[in-house]
Amino acid sequence: MTDWVQSILPKPLENPTLRVLSLGAGVQSTVMALMAESEAFGPRPDCAIFADTGWEPKEVYGHLDWLEKQISFPVYRVESGNIKHDLENNLNTTGHRFASIPFFMVNKDGTFGMARRQCTSEYKLKPIRKKVRELIGLKPRQRTPKGVMVEMWMGISRDEVQRMKESSDSWVTNRWPLLEKEMRRYDCLDWFRERHPQRTLAKSACIGCPFHDDHEWSHIKNNYPEEFEEACQIDEKLRDPEMDGGKFHGQRYLHAQRVPLREVRFNTASETGQQDLFNDLMQNECDGMCGI
Ligand code: SF4
Repeated sequence: MTDWVQSILPKPLENPTLRVLSLGAGVQSTVMALMAESEAFGPRPDCAIFADTGWEPKEVYGHLDWLEKQISFPVYRVESGNIKHDLENNLNTTGHRFASIPFFMVNKDGTFGMARRQCTSEYKLKPIRKKVRELIGLKPRQRTPKGVMVEMWMGISRDEVQRMKESSDSWVTNRWPLLEKEMRRYDCLDWFRERHPQRTLAKSACIGCPFHDDHEWSHIKNNYPEEFEEACQIDEKLRDPEMDGGKFHGQRYLHAQRVPLREVRFNTASETGQQDLFNDLMQNECDGMCGI
């Protein structure tokens, strides 16, 4: 019986104008890039693009430096502002008020909510799209000529299939090479471990991403105390009355417990019964750009 995922995957484009690998520098996109180098998915991509929010852990930047040396196609690092700086200054990428990351909210009436997530679109999708347009020779605001077709490779594995999303640009066709191979996240980890037993793969996400689960937060706290301190400072700043500019009618927190990050006692999911928020929420809500 044909797997339903296989039945909905698009056929690889025959002669696209450009093949781009969307590189998040996490487990899946790293393995996809390394497999692409050995032409496991057919012709290699013309390039990879990494959208840098400016607030990834040091280990992700170090990993990216290593990865670039393993592949022959170029890796472009693009950015659209620095999310940490923008959070500190209550700005977004256009210099207007507030970078909206998915904060946990306590509303004025005491009810709980979550802020809208605009960060993936602003800090990842936008700069990647801009770079792709530049690579195919388009000027700002120029219409895409007929016949231009870009194939965008997304590192989504079989267990994250709900993150698949078509591109909003008609001239971009998303392709999911790991799904074509029916690879799950653990297959990616096994593939990597076999070939690079001395190395580990980091989860790629902003240091202060509210989608971190307790395991991730305590990993940062215990191994990268300076990065944890940065996240604590941003978390405190979010509730500075001078900062919300009237936008938020409540208190914003980085952690799901809705207490200051510095005071959170991190526990394992089995102890608290708390969900693995990164996996659950990212799979349900992410555009397939963060964390892969
Ligand atoms: S990692 Fe989290 S905070 Fe960073 S862009 Fe993605 S969703 Fe937003």
